[in-house]
Order: sequence, then C-alpha cells, then structure tokens
Amino acid sequence: MKTNTFRQRIRQSIENETLQTALDNNTERRLKGRAAAFESIPNLEERRQRAHAIRADVIERLDEYLDQFIAKNEENGVIVHRAKDAAEAVNLILEIAKQAGENAECGMRNAESKIRIAKSKSMVSEEIELNHALEQAGIEVVETDLGEYIVQLRHERPSHIITPAAHLKKEQVAELFREKLGIPYTVDIPTLTATARKVLREVFLTADVGLSGVNFGVAETGAVCVVTNEGNARMVATLPPVHIALMGMERLVPNLADLSLMLSLLPRSATGQKLTVYTQLLRKPFPNQQRHLILLDNGRSRLRKSPLKESLSCIRCGACLNACPVFRELSGHAYIGSDLSIAPYPGPIGSVISPGLLGENYVQLAQTCSLCGACKEVCPVDIDLPKLLTRVRAGYATQPTLGDGRGLSLPTRLFLRIFARAATTPSLFALSQKFASLGTFLLAPRSGWVRLPAFTGWGYSKDLPRFAGKTFRERYQGGSLGTGQLSGKVPLKPEPVAVHVDTLPLRDVQFSNELTALGGHVTHTSNPTQSVVEFLHSRGVNKIHLEPNTLDESLLREARVEFTHAPDPQILVGVTKALCGLADTGSVLVADGAGNPLEASLLPEIHIAILNVADILPSLPDAMPLVKEADAAVFITGPSRTADIEMTLTIGVHGPKEVHVFLAS
Ligand code: SF4
Repeated sequence: MKTNTFRQRIRQSIENETLQTALDNNTERRLKGRAAAFESIPNLEERRQRAHAIRADVIERLDEYLDQFIAKNEENGVIVHRAKDAAEAVNLILEIAKQAGENAECGMRNAESKIRIAKSKSMVSEEIELNHALEQAGIEVVETDLGEYIVQLRHERPSHIITPAAHLKKEQVAELFREKLGIPYTVDIPTLTATARKVLREVFLTADVGLSGVNFGVAETGAVCVVTNEGNARMVATLPPVHIALMGMERLVPNLADLSLMLSLLPRSATGQKLTVYTQLLRKPFPNQQRHLILLDNGRSRLRKSPLKESLSCIRCGACLNACPVFRELSGHAYIGSDLSIAPYPGPIGSVISPGLLGENYVQLAQTCSLCGACKEVCPVDIDLPKLLTRVRAGYATQPTLGDGRGLSLPTRLFLRIFARAATTPSLFALSQKFASLGTFLLAPRSGWVRLPAFTGWGYSKDLPRFAGKTFRERYQGGSLGTGQLSGKVPLKPEPVAVHVDTLPLRDVQFSNELTALGGHVTHTSNPTQSVVEFLHSRGVNKIHLEPNTLDESLLREARVEFTHAPDPQILVGVTKALCGLADTGSVLVADGAGNPLEASLLPEIHIAILNVADILPSLPDAMPLVKEADAAVFITGPSRTADIEMTLTIGVHGPKEVHVFLAS
C-alpha cells in the first residue's frame, strides 16, 4: 500500500509535463555549467581525492575537531550550543528569538508586533522543520533566498538542495507574485526579482534575528564560512542584532588551506561558478551583535558509527541530484517517506542521509536508484553513493550494527557466504572463474547449447559477453600484463596538491577579464579619488558611504561629494578598500573594520572597491593568511545574482547590482 503511494507519486511526476520541462532546464544547464567550470582547474581528480581524505579525516576525528572549533568560537565571543536532536535545536532557536524580541521591545519595537526572523537558505533547518515550529510559536519567519521565498509563499518544501524552486516555471511564479504580493501579472524575470528585492529589503532591515546555515566551520580559527550568490546570507548575518548560525556538526574542515580546497570544488560543482559571489568568513560577532552557533547532531553520531558513515562527507553541492537520471525525472517532491512527508534531502545523497538521519520512514527512497554510478562520478568529494545506496537497501540505515547479514533473506545470506569464501580464497576464486567461463560458453546465445533467453529474457536485445580465452589472473600470472599493475592503488591519503597554478604573469589582465565576464567593471587609474568623483558625477550621485582612509576626503569635499562612515539604506554608492584581488576569479576581499565596509559593500546598489594592482594575488589560497585574523571578511566575486527562476541569470537580487573596481597603480 505504502509502496503503491510512492509509485503513484513517481508516476505523477513523470506525467507532469510542466515539471518535466522545468527539470530539464535546471539539470541540463547545471551539468553543462559544472563541466565548463571544472575545465579551469588543474588536477581535478587529485583534488577530489584530497577533499575526500580531508572529509574522511574530519569524520574520523570529529570529536577532536569539534572541541577545537567550539573552543575557538567561545574565545571569539560566539555563544555555542549543542543540540542532540531537532526538538532541542528548535527550542534553542525559540528561546534566542524570544529573548531578542524582549530586548527589541526595550528599544523601539512595538510589543504587539511579531518577532521577526530573516532566514537564509539552510538545509539543516529543513531537516528539523524549523519554519513550521516557529510559526506555531507565533514567530514570523521569512525565507530570503529567492527560490526559498517562492516555495515558502507556495507553502511547499524546496525540491532541490541548491535550486529550491527548480520544479516551477516562470508563469507559476508570476501568478504567485500577483496573488501574494499584489503586483500585476508579469513573466519578466528581472521584474519578479526586483519585486522580491524590495519586499525582502524591508525584512532584512527590521528583523530581530537573522538565521543562516553554515557551509563550513574552520576548526583552526572558529570561523564559519557561508556562501551565497544573492547576498541574503550576508544581510541576515550582518544587519539584525542577533545572528544564529545553524550547522550540522559534521560540516568542519581542519584549517583555512583545506577550506580553500573545498571552495575550489563546491561552487564549481553546485552552480558552475569558480567562486560564489559572496564567500563570507565570520569569526567574531559584529559590534553590538550577538552571535549564536548551534551545532546539530540529530542522528549524525549514530550515522558516524554505521556503514553509512561516508555520507557525512557530503558538502551539499547538489551535483549528484542533477546527474541522477531518476531525480531528473522526479524532482525532490517525489522523494516521500512512508508517512507521505517529503524528504528534506532528495536525490542520491538524500536517499542515504534522509533514512540515515531520520530513520525507517525514508528507507524506501533508495529503491528509486538504478545504480548507474553517475552520482559517484560527479561527486566532488568522491563519495561512493552507489555502495551506500545498496547498504540502505540491505537495512543498514535502521540497523547500523548489521554485519552478519541479518535482515537479508536466507538464500541471499547463503549465497553471500559462499561468494565471500570463494572471493577470499585464491584457489577457490580461480576455480570459480573456470566454472563461470564454462557456464557462459554454454549459455551464450550465439554459440551456447542452452537458450538462455528462454529462462531469463537475456539475449533478446543484449548479448551475453563472451569470456576471454584466458582469465585476467592467468594472464597476470603468465606475465603478459607485467607484475606491477595490481599495485597501482590510489593512496588512502594523497599528498596535498597545490591548489592553484599562477600561470599568468599579468595578473591584472586576468583579474579584469574574469571580473568583466561576470558583469563587473574595472577602471585603471593613477588617481582613484579623481576617477571615483568623475564616476559619481556621471551618475548624478552626491552622497556615498565611504570606508575611512580609502579616498582623499578633502578632494571629495572640494568636488562637493558628501560622505558618511555609517550605514544608510538610502545611499546609492558604497566605497571600500579591497585587501586583495584574486586573478583567477576576479574577486575582491573586503574585511570588517572602521566605517562599516561590510555594509558599504552590501547595502548600496553600487559597490566601488579600490584595489592596488600590486595586491592582486593569483588565487584563493594565497589570500587565506589575510583572513585568518579578520573578525569578518568576504570575498566578493561580481554583482549579486540569482538563477532561481527557470535558471535565468538575473543580476542584483539583494546585494549590489553593480561592482566597480578601480585598479590603482
Ligand atoms: S553526495 Fe557529493 S555530489 Fe551529492 S550533494 Fe553531496 S557532495 Fe554533492
């Protein structure tokens, strides 16, 4: 009965033409983008293996890394909580929100109004069904990622871990915005995006609490790394007086060098970008801000001791969903549990971790898998998903201590015992190969004595491959293959690989090309203040938010350009220093400091960064020493962007619509 319901849902998805078109658009473009993005880095396979080894090491020594990470966070002034399950995490968030609400009432907020949480995308919050719990408690929670906002307005769950509204077409979004936001019906995606920007800007500026997920925690420094393209995670982490970072406790990397390796893989794999638009590293809370870090277990400790442990290495890039031929027909909403609830994590990885973390209810998801191996092939941390999926099918998700085949049928157990004996005894293995070769000869459709198709259907459209005259073993022992070929194993923990190659001597040219390709603007200048003034005059702007010691302030006064060092949402242009630029991605690094540069690079529609040519570095790993001691820093790679509606690239969602870099020589 339950299986039938699951099948019905699958059938509905396949027969839904609108869904099929939306899915094709999403997955095809993602896969092409991913392939193109990986062309720009060398040694991809070595990086994957290194990333695999780093994540495996973290999961193995998780307690040690967690202790280090927690100690650093406490040292940094962050309030750390550990939640053993969903209920504990929800209660913690409720308490923090209520406290924030009370503090705000002491200030200026109306006691009658609801406590407001501005939230950026977090799969962990989906896992603990946070929004539902907050709404039940009378707290207003607003999703601020465009895709998440759309599905929240539709009272749906995200259908993809990276592209939450991947199942929708623009006509459906247009109708939704007409109905819920009161705008005239339009399928113009920039207009739909601009509407969301306007509505959500007010949410960011008035929220009592900002809540974000965490992509990586860095054990060495205690920093949390949060990446977004739209800028909403920067808003929720920067503007409200309280920031909650909600993190699965396994999402750690040992140090900043390992982080830069992960960041060379995650955005390429997830969205086909060399670097996400905003890669922020938050070490200390901002002045007058409280930061809470909630580390969620919710089954991870149990999973860590089970044969599904490897699934904890996942960095949630979503590539296995896009590559999976089954997911590409179904979308995330067809991945339902036996209680009909939609699984928080769909696709290949979801079919392992949903049952692994949340139990029996989602075990049936693994039945959708065809074991084609496409998921393993694309996984940037080389997780052996097909192996894990077969383990879920064998009952390991719910009985992790199974090791003797309990849960399997008697004939299967018997067969596996015989197979195990034959496969581990060289003489029996050699004998079994002889029998297999004889059996194949007898059953082969063209030359055999027995018509195999009569029994199994094999051979009508596929021929049984013929066995070679000699087995591999015989050829190897006979020396025709050479004796070294069986020892060419990949080392368990490969040597660290260089994560960048500085091949271009003209870094400023490379930097300019990269940034321009992303829609940014580069101006070479020997007098940055003069050039900025000319730019401002050309745009009719006479007031800016300026980071101190960035431009010649007396020259600005002479040119009648007003400036302030305080954030002001009405100001159109923010001007900051860039600590460095990255030649291979066109990024600039902005760090927290006097004059609120992080707000100046976020709130205005136009961000101007002043960068010295000599400060352009080859690649991300070269810049990591600069962020090690920074309280907060962000790598900005072009203007804010989204592709959440029909995968159509739209510039200027929440962050600046224009990024101008003035390259000072
Ligand atoms: S299993 Fe691999 S491919 Fe799938 S989401 Fe996780 S990291 Fe990405």
